[in-house]
Amino acid sequence: MARTPLISGNWKMNLNHFEAIQLVQKLSYELRNHDYDKVEVSVHPPFTDLRSVQTVIDADRMLFGLGAQNCHAETSGAFTGEVSPAMLQKMDVDFVIVGHSERRALFGETNEIVAAKALAVATHEMTPIVCVGETLQERESGEAESVVEAQVLGSLASLKGEKLTKTVVAYEPVWAIGTGVTASASDAQQMCAHIRSVIETIKKSAAEEVRIQYGGSVNAANAGELMSMPDIDGALVGGASLDAASFARVVSFQDT
Ligand code: PEP
Repeated sequence: MARTPLISGNWKMNLNHFEAIQLVQKLSYELRNHDYDKVEVSVHPPFTDLRSVQTVIDADRMLFGLGAQNCHAETSGAFTGEVSPAMLQKMDVDFVIVGHSERRALFGETNEIVAAKALAVATHEMTPIVCVGETLQERESGEAESVVEAQVLGSLASLKGEKLTKTVVAYEPVWAIGTGVTASASDAQQMCAHIRSVIETIKKSAAEEVRIQYGGSVNAANAGELMSMPDIDGALVGGASLDAASFARVVSFQDT
């Protein structure tokens, strides 16, 4: 089955709302309508920028989706400093990244927490982008596949039926994030194929539908080769998404 690649820009904790508006305007200028023929694109600004970016996307009928980088699993309540999926849904957010390795490592997010967030996102009719990936130590000790398998099973455990098939999984080896070191296309393909086979054990028919992104130092030079792999359905892009021209070149990878 043909899966439409999804290219998502994770801005992390960068850009205030004025800078965010400038970036989406530049990005919209860089991208041509035909760039969206074969791929879906999403931008994931910090929470404080979402409303501004959403307003610009709506007003100028921009063709990319709006994404958040995280959310809480509960709909409302005494969770000082948190943002709920209901609030994001109300702001027309389409995608929410959950379980990014920075959140797992720096904010103690376990597979159980990630699973609860993924369910909350899907329940609010947005698409979770569930991140998984091994550390360098885990890769070097030959544990990469088992670590990623446990993350996939644990983080997707709450999703059933359509909620599972619509979910996006991002394979992001921790050692490739923000380092300039990219997984080789064949290593990335091997792990993404493994992830698909793990999803098959949860629900056979979901495996062909779930989109699996690769993330980790993706740029214009390596995007084409990575995304030509049969089990890689797009990219989660950090650093290169902060520059409109660079991100646009990743999005138009099929032209290169
Ligand atoms: C990320 O933030 O998910 C990421 C992959 O970052 P980078 O592209 O900078 O490695």
